[in-house]
Amino acid sequence: MKLSEINGENANVELKVKILSLSRRETTTSKGETVYYYGLLGDETGVIPYTAWEFPAPIKAGDVVQIKYARSRIYNDRIRLYFDSKTEVLLKPGEDIEVKRTYKETKLMDLSLKNPFVTVTGKISNMSGKEYNKAGNTFTIYNGFIEDDTSRVRISSFGQALENGRIYRMVGARVSEFNKQLELSIGDKTEVIPEDEDMDFERYYKLFEVDNPAGGITILGFIITLGTKSGIIKRCSECNKPLANGVCPDHPDKPTKLDIFTYFTLDDGTKYIQCIAGKKAIMPFLGIKDEDLPRVAGDIYRMLEDKLYGHAVRVNADFIKSEEDLSLRVNFIAGITKEDIDKDIKVSQ
Ligand SMILES: [Zn+2]
Repeated sequence: MKLSEINGENANVELKVKILSLSRRETTTSKGETVYYYGLLGDETGVIPYTAWEFPAPIKAGDVVQIKYARSRIYNDRIRLYFDSKTEVLLKPGEDIEVKRTYKETKLMDLSLKNPFVTVTGKISNMSGKEYNKAGNTFTIYNGFIEDDTSRVRISSFGQALENGRIYRMVGARVSEFNKQLELSIGDKTEVIPEDEDMDFERYYKLFEVDNPAGGITILGFIITLGTKSGIIKRCSECNKPLANGVCPDHPDKPTKLDIFTYFTLDDGTKYIQCIAGKKAIMPFLGIKDEDLPRVAGDIYRMLEDKLYGHAVRVNADFIKSEEDLSLRVNFIAGITKEDIDKDIKVSQ
């Protein structure tokens, strides 16, 4: 039998497969403490997850095994293989199988480190390349964003350029975590297919709906507190570090630059969340420019209080992982318009 031939419940599965991953977990059941194993296995026709209540100790990821008397069942919309005390697992030393990988079609909002390889479809933006030199070879890493109708995340591509504004389907993109957010990367094993259609996205969400570090999300809410230490901060022009006493310990000779650091609490009626915003988001909202900063520095807290505290706003922001919850890193902030309210009502219905 091949994996692609399993199509539901089968009490007597016999296969030759490659164990792709193997994890061990302890759990407490009504019978007490037990150990089970789980992971992915594959053959020339596909990959499926398995759970093993019994597993011969010497078997490890990468081994090819002959399996008899395993059971298949559908779990979470996916076929899963179960090994119990009746299942025979026989190691086939020296054998290999060319596994055909399959990847679940995933929306960007549903990315998770638990499913590290996925198929995604989205639009590329802000992509630019940087050249690196390694062992005499020059290669390029491209960094940018990918977005769909649910979220926007960072994407990096090793060697392969992607066109800004273009939609791609990516089979076998890898999910990782970077800077408290999820990120996708594509390498030489990822299949990248340009699509002809175009997409436009408006991602309005209620705070209670988001439990993932999703990016480029629009939230409408009230600012219910403004952090008292919000205002102008000095940064090193070389390393961008915020400077407590005006001098960078690593670059004491470099000039400093001014930034605005703002933190506030946003409440959208379903939940409240801590937000941070820098000058890129705040300056257009206050109607000031870089060259105004030294002049308005003494007045900035009053300006923030005036325009932010107690106001209804629309923010476009990235959710980032905080210690136990999510917080928002604000990209853009504006007053609420009638159009926003109409869209918000549409989302709520
Ligand atoms: Zn510095």
